[in-house]
Amino acid sequence: MQTPLPHPEDYDVVVLGSGEAGKYIAWTLAKKGMRVVVIERKLIGGSCPNIACLPSKNIIHSAKIASYFGRSAEFGITKDNYQIKMSLVRDRKRKMVDGLVDMHLANFKASGAQLLMGSGRFIGPKTIEVALADGGTRILRGEKVIINTGSRTTVEPIPGLTEASPLTHIEALELDHIPEHLITIGGGYIGLELAQAMRRFGSRVTIIDRNARLAHREDQDVTDILQDMCREEGIEVVTSARLTSVEGKSGESVKLYALRDGSEIILEGTHILVASGRTPNTEGIGLEVAGVETTNRGHVKVNERLETTAPGVWAVGDCAGSPHFTHIAFDDFRVVRDNLAGGHRVTTGRQVPFCMFTDPEFARVGLSETEAKERGISYRLAKIPIVAVLRTRTLSETRGFLKALIDTASDRILGFTAIGVEAGEIIAAVQVAMLAGLPYTALRDAIFTHPTMLEGLIPLFSAVPARTEKMT
Ligand SMILES: Cc1cc2nc3c(=O)[nH]c(=O)nc-3n(C[C@H](O)[C@H](O)[C@H](O)COP(=O)(O)OP(=O)(O)OC[C@H]3O[C@@H](n4cnc5c(N)ncnc54)[C@H](O)[C@@H]3O)c2cc1C
Repeated sequence: MQTPLPHPEDYDVVVLGSGEAGKYIAWTLAKKGMRVVVIERKLIGGSCPNIACLPSKNIIHSAKIASYFGRSAEFGITKDNYQIKMSLVRDRKRKMVDGLVDMHLANFKASGAQLLMGSGRFIGPKTIEVALADGGTRILRGEKVIINTGSRTTVEPIPGLTEASPLTHIEALELDHIPEHLITIGGGYIGLELAQAMRRFGSRVTIIDRNARLAHREDQDVTDILQDMCREEGIEVVTSARLTSVEGKSGESVKLYALRDGSEIILEGTHILVASGRTPNTEGIGLEVAGVETTNRGHVKVNERLETTAPGVWAVGDCAGSPHFTHIAFDDFRVVRDNLAGGHRVTTGRQVPFCMFTDPEFARVGLSETEAKERGISYRLAKIPIVAVLRTRTLSETRGFLKALIDTASDRILGFTAIGVEAGEIIAAVQVAMLAGLPYTALRDAIFTHPTMLEGLIPLFSAVPARTEKMT
């Protein structure tokens, strides 16, 4: 016979993890008068403001300033013997994070949602036991429960890797010194952003990737620019290399052994940064006793309404396998909010724009050429080098291109890629046009302010080939 559970404290909504979707759900429903509690083990407001998007962009901006100092003579300003003090770079980031945490605390207070610091795990359907951060436990039961536990860096079981105590983005963003030689495992967006930043601070940097090219899911022309960027900035890139073992300690000296084209290669450095994938935080939290199933990749299994397999339990963000971006987690909030209110809002068919904050930035919305070809979708292609946008010349930032895919049967925009200065801002304009169902000609014929980056949309969309009977 099972021992009966101690009587839990009842809430309308219990949120496990204070990430993007969870906190917005909590604030919104608490403001409506519901009794809401959010359980958070460490990061008030989740990863984005504390250890991920915003701190990384803060550090990347400092690295951009460092690169401007390095290029200062090009702008007619001389600044010799400048110094980079990583402890001060870190202080600026910490100050920003502190401010963001204060902002979150104020939002909790204003909304009436409770924030409970501690680690939670299910002990029964819709029932969570919380090991409180300051000792003791509490048991909470929610009429509705939202799982928002996020994801963490995957450290693959490569002999010696865990023992080497590699940096993840969390420690890399807390460094108070410049690594002498950083070896980054993984050439995806987290690896590339941080590799470039560290290089700009003065570290020697090597990126090792198991795939044949950087950002391997993207079009070849994107990889080419990223590869050029690395070469120009002195970042060594080793692709098609499968790591076999690691020796040493990150922070002191490390040796990475890998197989490339059947031969062994050895990389020696001082620090390792692991950025080769994410693992959802779904084990050890009692999902099985709550009737919440997971997928074979470890994500909480959800339908398009973000309902789990347990009635009244929802999952959002990275842990639910939503595309790993804060703006997507924010949309998960809207999906759950509307469904809880009796609506029917789904995650299927939504736009997933993204930006990689390297310099130049790389941003895309809609289809890439690779995806269009894989899906057998025919398109008309327009592409211009970003140097054709005169604003880039005023900035001395001329690397990159703009590229658009247009439907062959109509003037609909299927996809847009920008790699270049302000790419993340430029895609938004095209995205709005796509959302509004505007033909590409609306952007081609628009009047944009001169000289701005958006002005580049005019020559880009003027380069769309005319519609013909047959197109590939
Ligand atoms: C270095 C880096 C840079 C990034 N940059 C960008 C970017 O520029 N733009 C972008 O859109 N995305 C970016 N991302 C991705 C983005 O950060 C994530 O997709 C997003 O933060 C996921 O939000 P989430 O709510 O799913 O999880 P999280 O924000 O991680 O929230 C989960 C929360 O749950 C808590 N938690 C977990 N388990 C428990 C438990 N058992 N009990 C109590 N609390 C628990 C965790 O402490 C955490 O606070 C970046 C990610 C990284 C790593």
